[in-house]
Amino acid sequence: MASCHLLLNGEIVAGSAGAMGVINPASEKVFSEATVADADQLDAAVDAAQRAFASWRKRSWSERRALLVRLADALEQRTELLAELLTREQGKPLRHARNEILGSAKRIRDLASLQLTDRSLVDSPDLTISEHVMPLGVVGIITPWNFPVALLVNKLAPALLAGNTVVVKPAPTTPLTTGIIGELCAGIFPRGVVNVIIDRNDLGQRLTEHPGVAKISFTGSTATGKKVMAAAAGTLKRVTLELGGNDAAIVLDDVHVEEAARKVFAGAMVNSGQVCVAIKRVYVPTLLYRAFCKELTTLAARAVVGDGMDPATELGPVQNRAQFEKVVALADHARKYGRVLFGGSPLQRSGYFMPPTVVCDLDDSSPLVADEQFGPLLPVLPYEDPADALRRANSSPYGLAATIWSRDPARGADLATGVEAGTVWVNHHMAMRYDIPFRGLKQSGLGTELALEGLEEFVQRRVVSAVH
Ligand code: NAD
Repeated sequence: MASCHLLLNGEIVAGSAGAMGVINPASEKVFSEATVADADQLDAAVDAAQRAFASWRKRSWSERRALLVRLADALEQRTELLAELLTREQGKPLRHARNEILGSAKRIRDLASLQLTDRSLVDSPDLTISEHVMPLGVVGIITPWNFPVALLVNKLAPALLAGNTVVVKPAPTTPLTTGIIGELCAGIFPRGVVNVIIDRNDLGQRLTEHPGVAKISFTGSTATGKKVMAAAAGTLKRVTLELGGNDAAIVLDDVHVEEAARKVFAGAMVNSGQVCVAIKRVYVPTLLYRAFCKELTTLAARAVVGDGMDPATELGPVQNRAQFEKVVALADHARKYGRVLFGGSPLQRSGYFMPPTVVCDLDDSSPLVADEQFGPLLPVLPYEDPADALRRANSSPYGLAATIWSRDPARGADLATGVEAGTVWVNHHMAMRYDIPFRGLKQSGLGTELALEGLEEFVQRRVVSAVH
């Protein structure tokens, strides 16, 4: 059985806290193992990153960029290995896994093309004031299990480009692709610049409290994000938090029902609903409600659910048992208090398989509507007028993203101005770009990722004011 190790100070080493099995969610069987770090190894990783920072920060942006491009090349060269591993540990269909690897390589290159520069603020004969860009130091990178590679590179590339060194900690149920990326980094970056720690969900707190860490870049649930923020307060660390969402789709009454339903269904079920910006509830005008529900039901019945290694599979399993149990409980509740039009019960086979589930007639306060399901369940909710849909879409502690669907883009864009979300897509979905800032409003996050604004969060700026 292959084994995945840590990356500490440039060396691939076994974890001192033993090994844990990594489960394939399509079979519920252990298919690989990862060795696990103890607290001393976490401290050693931070020490190594601190030591490496002294020289890494002095390299030019173009030198650091060149090494990131080599990492992008290395990812591309190992696309098949990484994609298969990603499917086995995460569950997603192999072609989606391939897209994640290739998309991540491209993302590294694109992000590496950005640059922040020093600025002259005052330049007069008797006074010059300038502002200098400086890295922060050691960045702790903590990632979740839904896009283990894509979400890692969104942080890793700007952190390193800006001159920081990093300690990476993946989610314990998807450590393997991160472990391989650690091995690739060992052959590219100077010792200690990139360190990878694998844990049993027990070292995140230590990393976020660590006095040697200057910043935490975190993607995960809102509940854990709050713990990260509290732990970071002790040393006033910088934090960027990309957290949960309960993204609403608002369908306007001028849509072509079949086409809009197809796009909404795809946006809700992508990665089996395990996407921070997946459509998590859809508001449909009362007049179109029946037809829209019927269309979604047909799409759900047609979707091929199975092992991601099977080329026919469109939707893979839920990634881990805890999440699966949560999704099953939400479906049970929805069956009791609403009407399940398709799905609603796990498939009778091994693996964490829940079919795409369409639910109507639920109350706005029911957990499937009010909470983040993070699984392939979609509640469909009727509305009388768009202002009412908007009010209900906004009545959530989350504010990550939203979509509006209309044949009239101007009408959609107009409604978008009232949506309390970091991103509103009109007539498309999940169109993330390296050069467009991504952020959550309200309890969906703090700070920005991607684009120059995201890069800015990996630096601090010093003002030098000199009288001549
Ligand atoms: P999670 O919060 O359970 O775990 C995320 C990471 O935090 C894991 O690596 C975990 O080991 C670590 N962790 C656990 N306890 C910690 C602590 N006390 N301190 C520091 N780190 C700790 O999230 P998950 O279940 O892995 O991921 C699903 C969640 O992530 C969903 O809520 C989803 O919406 C969110 N998410 C958000 C985005 C975004 O960009 N906004 C993207 C993807 C996923």
